[in-house]
Amino acid sequence: MTTAPDSVPSLSRDHLAWPFFDKSHAVFAARIDAFAASPAMAVIDHHDVDTTCRTLVRALGQAGLLDAAVSVTNGDAIDSRRVCIARETLAFHDGLADFAFAMQGLGTGAISLSGSDEIKALVLPKVRAGTWLAAFALSEKLAGSDVAAMACAARLDGDHYVLDGEKTWISNGGIADVYTVFARTGEAPGTRGISAFVVFADDPGFSIAERIDVMAPHPLATIRFTNCRIPAGRRLGAPGEGFKIAMRTLDIFRASVAAAAVGFARRALAEALGHAKTRPMFGATLGDLQLTQAALGDMATGVDAAALLTYRAAWRRDVQKLPTTSEAAMAKMTATETAQAVIDRAMQMFGGRGVEVGAITERLYREIRALRIYEGATEVQKLIIARELLKKS
Ligand SMILES: Cc1cc2nc3c(=O)[nH]c(=O)nc-3n(C[C@H](O)[C@H](O)[C@H](O)COP(=O)(O)OP(=O)(O)OC[C@H]3O[C@@H](n4cnc5c(N)ncnc54)[C@H](O)[C@@H]3O)c2cc1C
Repeated sequence: MTTAPDSVPSLSRDHLAWPFFDKSHAVFAARIDAFAASPAMAVIDHHDVDTTCRTLVRALGQAGLLDAAVSVTNGDAIDSRRVCIARETLAFHDGLADFAFAMQGLGTGAISLSGSDEIKALVLPKVRAGTWLAAFALSEKLAGSDVAAMACAARLDGDHYVLDGEKTWISNGGIADVYTVFARTGEAPGTRGISAFVVFADDPGFSIAERIDVMAPHPLATIRFTNCRIPAGRRLGAPGEGFKIAMRTLDIFRASVAAAAVGFARRALAEALGHAKTRPMFGATLGDLQLTQAALGDMATGVDAAALLTYRAAWRRDVQKLPTTSEAAMAKMTATETAQAVIDRAMQMFGGRGVEVGAITERLYREIRALRIYEGATEVQKLIIARELLKKS
């Protein structure tokens, strides 16, 4: 990594030589790099996240990059390594760009995995082109980690389903055109009584209950269904299969949360290195001091360990075609926790400048935090890993 004062450091591509990748990944990485250097990235405004996300999604679609996140035929065909490379790169430059890219995939994964041909044809090309925005609505106020506590319900009424209830912390809530929604249909207790549906923002009975502000701003809302009638053909998969579909979707994208964390961590390390080499201190530079070198050693090792776990999980899914429940959980937990620690070390090395509002370390510090919570908090990942271990032993 190289850096110059007041410039964006370059993102190392050395790891693309790892055996997890083939030549197509280097070609794809070059396309993402070109996008990161394009005017679309120069106009990111964190004070107007709605407009920024719409603009970014449109630009990503026009550049053909959403092809990596949205399959118009079959979600299983998505190449996880490409999704990871995209997220790592975009997160290195700006968390909002990573968010805009990722949500198009997460918001439609269930549709490409389990939608009818008709619903796929209606939704997926528009989301892939960046003309529609997508969202994934699973969580509720009392059902986050505990999905089985889900209360939002859908009942069959003739050839329609009627949805009632709320979903909260829904990314892209308020600006999405299409929502993948999970609701209780009651075939069995707990997670076996949940089905998945496609809801459009202009469906009668759908509304935005409130917008939510978070420390790293992005479009987020509580959405509400009040006697919301949708055709039964908008159900994804069989009745009661919703939880399975949600988990299959998350299995595709969970390693990519780790990749985003790796991107944030790489940026923090690059910034820290640049600062350490140029900050005069005690007649030398910050980087000449051994305590700084120890910190840099820890940071670089953490970043590589996180990247190895991330791309191992993606490679296992893409190439070995094996389940990655445990591998993706290890990657997500390690990468997000490591990135938080790496960013914190970088902030410390910047001293007072590091905590100034607008400093890159201040932005990264806010951007990484939610990744340790969503798509399964760290504690949940530990349980997933342990359960898989106990099952296998
Ligand atoms: C920025 C952001 C974006 C989000 N986007 C979406 C989205 O697009 N779609 C969506 O459906 N949801 C989304 N979420 C919701 C997210 O998935 C939930 O916040 C997450 O699942 C945790 O649920 P919760 O907030 O209810 O926390 P809780 O379930 O109440 O958990 C609180 C904490 O308890 C701990 N914990 C959990 N399980 C255990 C355990 N077994 N033992 C001990 N401790 C435990 C963890 O530290 C956890 O953080 C988003 C959240 C955030 C913050």
